[in-house]
This record gives sequence, structure tokens and C-alpha cells, in this order.
Amino acid sequence: MANSKYEYVKSFERPDNLLPNTWIVIRLDGRGFHKFSARHNFSKPNDPRAISLMNHSATLLLRDLPELLLAYGVSDEFSFLLSPQTTLFERREAKLTSTIVSTFTAYYVHHWPTYFPTEPLKEPLPSFDARAVCYPSVTNVRDYFSWRQVDCHINNLYNTVFWALVVKGGLGRTEAESRLKGTLAKEKNEILWGLGVNYNCEEEKWRKGSVVFRELKKSVEVDATTATETTTPTTTTTTPADKNTATAQPSDAVVQEGDGEDDEGD
Ligand code: ATP
Ligand code: ATP
Ligand code: MG
Ligand code: MG
Ligand code: MG
Ligand code: MG
Repeated sequence: MANSKYEYVKSFERPDNLLPNTWIVIRLDGRGFHKFSARHNFSKPNDPRAISLMNHSATLLLRDLPELLLAYGVSDEFSFLLSPQTTLFERREAKLTSTIVSTFTAYYVHHWPTYFPTEPLKEPLPSFDARAVCYPSVTNVRDYFSWRQVDCHINNLYNTVFWALVVKGGLGRTEAESRLKGTLAKEKNEILWGLGVNYNCEEEKWRKGSVVFRELKKSVEVDATTATETTTPTTTTTTPADKNTATAQPSDAVVQEGDGEDDEGD
């Protein structure tokens, strides 16, 4: 209906291009996963099937969208990083967030039966929200991921003690909750110790989260006379840390569980 009398409605749309020259972080988060996880019998505090499905969905998304530099995930959330130079969807916020969150959700639902063969998906089906935030400096980006990782640590320590009190300590959920009210990390660790659990021996993927990143491979071009390393332009996936790796080329996305910084206390 181009050039029709209805065309004017298009002018009601507002531009939503994200600020140029800034890092873009898009974070998605499961809607009502507290209930969703209970309805689908996730093991508590941490269901390995659920985290593997999240990681697999994020990995497939990185394969679909080469502009995504890396992803960090914990619980029912994932954060995706785009470079300050990205021009994907003209940096339009709604296009970026809606494409990322719907593609991720499609993979999550599609691969559900592989990870939960004995647990059919029940309605309401899983859905995720998403938001975009721009960060002007590398320090801000680092701090963003540290913030998510500290959140992971705090929540996971809490959930680990809570379920240890319920399962090993025989407390009711309300009792466990009030026992933990106002406790600091040190005290939580002591409670766990008393129940025969050393928190530091818990798997890193629960304590620290998961990172999906690209493996950078050297590309070698063989010339008639000499073998020369070429500087294949990889505009979409070069990060500051890779600037010296002129021949680096992105290949498949890989997941590393529990990688990242050391825990920061709470
Ligand atoms: P909202 O819609 O506001 O995000 P929510 O119920 O999803 O609400 P979150 O703060 O996002 O609340 O918490 C996600 C919840 O999902 C966790 O508290 C936990 O109960 C559950 N969950 C997510 N991943 C796992 C997992 N791998 N194993 C067990 N439970 C999980
Ligand atoms: P963009 O990502 O920019 O939206 P697009 O390829 O999706 O690109 P659209 O303008 O949204 O472009 O057009 C959707 C296209 O999908 C149609 O042009 C048509 O080719 C195809 N399509 C959608 N629905 C049907 C259908 N029911 N039967 C056949 N083809 C369809
Ligand atoms: Mg939330
Ligand atoms: Mg949630
Ligand atoms: Mg969450
Ligand atoms: Mg279309």
C-alpha cells in the first residue's frame, strides 16, 4: 500500500537508533521462571538440563548473528555484547532486542525435548523479555559483566544454602527462609559447612555462570611463491583485545561454563 492515503501512519513511528560509538548489551530474562521451573520439575537449586538448554540456545544465536561478540549467562538470563561499531539493523533498539529475544526463544523451545525428554512443555510456554543498554567505555562493559556475575554469586549462594537447609537440614521452606534472613556470605558458608557442604567445591558453572565466545582462528593464504598470513577483515567480531591479532577470524561459538572473574563478595 505504498503511497496510499494510509501511508501517513508510518510517520507516527519514532526512531530508536541506539547511541553511536557505544557498546550495546542486550540482556534477556525468562518470564516467571520461578513458577516455570517448578511446573517443569527443575531440580533445585540448579538443574543442569536447564542451564545446558540456555547455553545451547545462546550458542546457536551467536552462530546466527556474527555481530554478537560474546554472551554471559546465569539462571534464566543471558547478556549479549555488540561492538561500538556495529551497524546491525542500523542499531535500532526494537529490531535488535526483538530479533535476539525471539530467535533465542525459538531455539529454547525447539531444543527443549532434547534436554528434557521426559518433561513435555506445558502452557504457558516459556517466554523471555529483553532490554538494550549502551555503555561508553570498556570499563563500563567489564563492570556490567562483573555486576551480573556478582548477582550470580549472591543468588547461587543463597539458593544453595536454602535448599541444603530444606533437603539436608529438614527445615520447611518458611523456616529456611527466616533462618537465612539477614545473614551475610560468611554465615551462609558456615551453615553450609555445618551441613557437610563446602561451597567452593560446588561446580563453577553454578557459582560463576557461563560464557559463550568465539574461537579466533588464524587464516593462512597460500601464495604461489610464499605462504603469507592474510589480514582477513573481520569487522564484525573484532574486540579490543584482538586488535593485535590481525589474522584472527571468528569461527564457531563455544561455551565455557564457569569462566570469568573470581567471585566478589556480597
Ligand atoms: P521475572 O519474570 O521477574 O524474571 P522470575 O520468576 O523469572 O521472574 P528470576 O529472578 O528471573 O525470576 O529468577 C529465575 C528463577 O528461575 C530462579 O529463581 C529459579 O527459581 C529458576 N531457575 C532458573 N534457572 C534454573 C536452573 N538451572 N535450575 C533451577 N531453577 C532455575
Ligand atoms: P525483513 O527481515 O526485512 O522483514 P523479509 O524477507 O521478512 O525481510 P517482508 O517484507 O517482511 O520481508 O516480507 C515477508 C516475505 O515473506 C514476503 O515477501 C513473502 O515472500 C514471504 N511470506 C510471508 N508469508 C507468506 C505466506 N503466507 N506465503 C508465502 N510467502 C510468504
Ligand atoms: Mg526479572
Ligand atoms: Mg526471570
Ligand atoms: Mg532471572
Ligand atoms: Mg519480514
